[in-house]
Order: sequence, then C-alpha cells, then structure tokens
Amino acid sequence: MRRKFLAAMLLAFAMNSPLFAQALDDAVRQDLPDLMALYRDLHENPELSMQETRTAALLAAEARRLGFEVTEGVGGTGVVAVLANGAGPTLLLRADMDALPVEEQTGLPFASRVRATSVAGVESGVMHACGHDTHMAAWVGAARRLVAMRDDWSGTLVLIAQPGEEIGVGARAMLEDGLFTRFPKPTHALAFHDSASLPAGTIGYSVGPALANVDSVDMQVRGVGGHGAYPHTTRDPIVLASRIVSSLQTLVSRELDPLEAAVVTVGSFQAGTKHNIISDEARLLLTVRSYTPEVRHQLLDGIRRVARGEAIAAGVPEDRMPVVTVREAEFTPVTLNTQSLTEATADRFRSHFGADRVRQVRPIMGGEDFGRYHLADPAIESLIFWVGGVPRERWDAVDGDVSRLPSLHSPFWAPDAEAVIATAAEALTVAAMGVLGSP
Ligand SMILES: [Zn+2]
Ligand SMILES: [Zn+2]
Repeated sequence: MRRKFLAAMLLAFAMNSPLFAQALDDAVRQDLPDLMALYRDLHENPELSMQETRTAALLAAEARRLGFEVTEGVGGTGVVAVLANGAGPTLLLRADMDALPVEEQTGLPFASRVRATSVAGVESGVMHACGHDTHMAAWVGAARRLVAMRDDWSGTLVLIAQPGEEIGVGARAMLEDGLFTRFPKPTHALAFHDSASLPAGTIGYSVGPALANVDSVDMQVRGVGGHGAYPHTTRDPIVLASRIVSSLQTLVSRELDPLEAAVVTVGSFQAGTKHNIISDEARLLLTVRSYTPEVRHQLLDGIRRVARGEAIAAGVPEDRMPVVTVREAEFTPVTLNTQSLTEATADRFRSHFGADRVRQVRPIMGGEDFGRYHLADPAIESLIFWVGGVPRERWDAVDGDVSRLPSLHSPFWAPDAEAVIATAAEALTVAAMGVLGSP
C-alpha cells in the first residue's frame, strides 16, 4: 500500500517534469507515421452518420491489437474497448467516427472521392470535413501510450468510438444500448475536437458550457390560398410567415436577459409554386440555441406564442393556426465541462506544453452530443477540449482572422493533421494520466 502510494507520488512529481514531457513527446513522434497512415486511410474512406462500418472495424482491430476487450455494434456501429488495470477511476475516452455529406475540395492527395446516400436518403459526396478522422487517429495514439505506461497508472480505461455525432443521435444510441450498464460506468469522460479557430498545435478549453443546446424546429404556417389578383379573398401565408420571421428576431433582442446567450435562426423559408398563386402554406425551419434549460424553454415557448399571435393578427381562422413542431429526437443538449476536471487538466496541459500553447476560450453556439455522457449522470466529471488545426502559415497570412479561413464543415477544411494528431494524442494521454495516475 505504502509502496503504491510512494510510486504514485513519484509519478505525480515525474509527470510534471520536463523529462516526462520529453519522453511522451518522443514516443508520440515515433507513433506518428502509423497514426498519419491511419488518418489518411480514414480521410480517403469516409462514412456517413450511422453507416461507419469500415471505420468501426478498423478501430476495433487497433484496440484489440493493444489488448483491450472489444465489443462492436454498440448503438449501431459503436465500438467499446475496455482495459481493466486495477483499482481506481474509470475513464471514458471518446472519438466520433462519422463524416459529412460534403464534396471535398481540398485538393489533398488523399482527398475523398466517396459518394454515398445518407440515412435520410440524400445522395452526395462524403468528406471528413469536421476532422473526426484526426479524432480517431489521436484516440489510437493515446491508447498506445496509455497501454505502454500501464505500470504507471491504475483504473479502467473505456475507449469508445461513437457513431452519428453529426446528426446528434450516436451518443444517445450508445447509452440506450447499455454503455453505462453493460460496460464499466465512467467516473470521468474525455474527448477533444479539432478547431478551425486556433493555430495548429495549440489547445483551447472553456470551463462550464463549451457547446450549446441545439433544437431544430419546424413551422407550418397555414393560410387560405387563392388567385394572386384577389388577395382580399385569401390569407396570404407568405406575408404572415415573413412577419413571423421578423417578430422572432425580438425573442433574443428584446425578451431575453442581455447577459444570457441565445440564437434563433430561420434557416429555410419555403412557399408557393407560381407568380400568380397565393399559396395556402409556408414552411420555416429554425435552429434554436442556448446554454440553459430555462432559456431553451423561454425561446421555444416564445416561438409558439409569436407564431400564434401573428396568425391571429393576420386574421387566420382558428383551425388554420400555425403548427410548430420541436424535433425532440434531434435535440442536442448543452456540453458542459465540469470545473475540477477542466481546471486540473488545463494546469497539466500548461505545465506539459507550456502556457503559450494553452488558452481559455469562449464557449461556442455549435452543438456536440458528447455532453450526453455527463448529463446521463452529472456525477461524471467531463471535459471536451479543442486542438487547433489551422496551419501556421495560413494563420499568420490572415493574422489570426479566422473569418477569412475555411471553417469546420467547409469542403476546403484541411487541418495540419500532424500537428492536431500529435498534440491531441499527447494531450489525451496527459489528461488521462491526470485522472488515473494521481494518488
Ligand atoms: Zn461537425
Ligand atoms: Zn465534429
């Protein structure tokens, strides 16, 4: 017992030492050619959400080779790889596997030429435009290091390769398929995402909310159709829907506490067929974003009230009131970084990488279903951090003005994959050792 304690003390001391940092850095550099080969393979052969069969098989094989006990087909194509290594915390390390329906235009030698049909039935090009290929390569890199260092830590590693992040269903599918009951339940959860807003090889993190609640809302605005020459005999749904779009702007600007953050965007407005026909219906598609359940409900209630109120003002009959549908199945909840894990890990990152490579960043209004693991049991400490992917020369060329660079999901997004994978593999290892290696 005492020996174990001493060993842990020594390790805690050693992990903050320049020697440990250099040794880990060197080991990851040695792994890098393999990890880059895996990355290029994944990049060239992307698969759409909930269709990640080849990808999952590759990752399962990597984990098996490393000695993990691997289960495939969890929540669709999900992979769970467990390494029990004595008493201690249980750490979940997650990579997401899916690519996007985007036709790649990076011009990279290993660019994707894959085409596929999504689960929604839309055929398109397929690309790892969100960088999940870098996530998977770094996940393998961290697994290799942690296996190599297994004498220096104690606990259980649960590596998961998650499907369907881009359509917001994968984390829930894995949870519903028994992720926390069929396998060791985590005390801690870790992940990273590549960033198109940070220079290559830097790390960003936020404490508390990191990404937002994301709701998709459909609105069917019904009117009374007729001839375009006789508007007085109709109730024009296009004029009504236009008023609704304008009024929705005040939900955030006039009704919300100015210190709260939220977004209401009407991303689609469809109506009508011909110049001289007043249609009897218009359809709006909205994305609604917030950080708290209270603001979320305030916005969703406000959307229903504005729709109904404007319809009444337009004289629409009671049986033709707008139909507002919140797509609950597609809801992505807020992603929270818990304070103690986040601050402790950020400190470790600073001493490992140097303070100039680690910065606290603001939360964003993007969505990410990683937050579901923590929300399934708020006792689980959770952190998702960013690893910068913008190639240095491109960053310098625009002086850090990322609005002039491709964003995530752009067909032109080509991160400095070596920098992302090396930094992230190292960072995940440092963060995991912080959880599993402490006395
Ligand atoms: Zn994405
Ligand atoms: Zn992503």
